[in-house]
Amino acid sequence: MENLGYYNGHTDIIENIKIPITDRVCWFGDGIYEASLAGRKIFALDEHLNRLFASAKGIDIEPPHSKKEFEVLLNDLTKKVKGDLKLVYWQVTRDGGLRNHAYDETLKANLLITIRKIDMPDKDIPLSLITLEDKRYKMCNIKTLNLLPNVLAMQIAKNAKCGEAVFVGNGFVRECSHSNIHIIKDGIFKTHPADSRILAGIARAHLIKHCQTLGIPVEFNAFTLGQLYQADEVIVTSSSQICLRANFVDGNAVGGRASKIFENLQMLAYSEFYEGIK
Ligand code: PLP
Repeated sequence: MENLGYYNGHTDIIENIKIPITDRVCWFGDGIYEASLAGRKIFALDEHLNRLFASAKGIDIEPPHSKKEFEVLLNDLTKKVKGDLKLVYWQVTRDGGLRNHAYDETLKANLLITIRKIDMPDKDIPLSLITLEDKRYKMCNIKTLNLLPNVLAMQIAKNAKCGEAVFVGNGFVRECSHSNIHIIKDGIFKTHPADSRILAGIARAHLIKHCQTLGIPVEFNAFTLGQLYQADEVIVTSSSQICLRANFVDGNAVGGRASKIFENLQMLAYSEFYEGIK
């Protein structure tokens, strides 16, 4: 198939999938999601499923399948879609009746899956970033569907011809609209701690592992906007873009001063990725 959509056991092309208004995603964005890239296999699926189950617990939803059942279903559906590289997206949402803030815990959750062909962004093209005040709430560690501040931030970035928007709260760099951000300074890899102000990205976890492989010290401390401007390298990670460097923040040139470290990290990240989707 060219692409594939799935809703509660029904499959068709994505454009034909319909969801009922009683799915609370329509009223409240009441659900959680995951996304990963795939070839024949989905990259880091076990880690995505672990995070999905942690997010589900965070918003009191019982996933409709076990991890094993998710794994079989997602892998089977992925094989049905043509292409060397695919974006596999899945969301679990709370079911309900008419609009009502309080929910019925006895109803079974809904599952939506979309799988489509995607091109890998050119890893050699650096990103321009724009910084914005972080106006989000304090549950950023849960991968919920409530992404309106992220959507608005990315639109501002797009209009400013930037590749990502960076959220800054109380002078500290948190994360981007749909990726994590890190710096290298004086040979040290610095990343925001995995607390409630950021989503602990799977790509971030893999890059930390690659730092350890290369003997690069890792510091889990929030860094300031000033430190971002002064960084030797600025690195953006996500499951769909893996590992990119940034060369502009708010129109100021940044990074490019620890190329060897960045290139070694990027090489490990992409080779592990391509090995993992075979
Ligand atoms: N932070 C936010 C807000 C995100 O939406 C994402 C990905 O969607 C990430 C970070 C990166 O997470 P991952 O590496 O798991 O894709």
